[in-house]
Amino acid sequence: MADRLRIALIAHDAKKDEMANWAHAHEARLARCELVATGNTGLQLTRRCPSLKVERLLSGPLGGDQQIGARIVESKVDALIFFIDPLSAHPHDVDVKALVRVAVLTNIAFALNSHTADCVLFNLLPEKNA
Ligand code: PGA
Repeated sequence: MADRLRIALIAHDAKKDEMANWAHAHEARLARCELVATGNTGLQLTRRCPSLKVERLLSGPLGGDQQIGARIVESKVDALIFFIDPLSAHPHDVDVKALVRVAVLTNIAFALNSHTADCVLFNLLPEKNA
């Protein structure tokens, strides 16, 4: 693992507010991590949490999910926080599936909702190191 925890963040549109609120609640902890996000998720995160430095990749449907998948297989991501909208179909569903596949394949910490994201963050970044 790198010196700093490297977290990739993605939220589908219906989950972007939830992701921004989750990040805001954990802003101090997240500020100590290297953060990378798909384009619109990253934009929303930096608006809600101005103290966070977030590297923004392409928008998910335009290749951002695949960019994050590539980083995962290159061992450049320690944890993936991906708030999926379970109630909508997405045109880039194949990319979402591929991303889930590489996250499982590489056995990185991987959260699909805020409760599990709490577990991942607190486990990988306990308070004494936060
Ligand atoms: P976005 O992509 O953050 O650019 O909206 C997320 C997604 O994969 O839907």
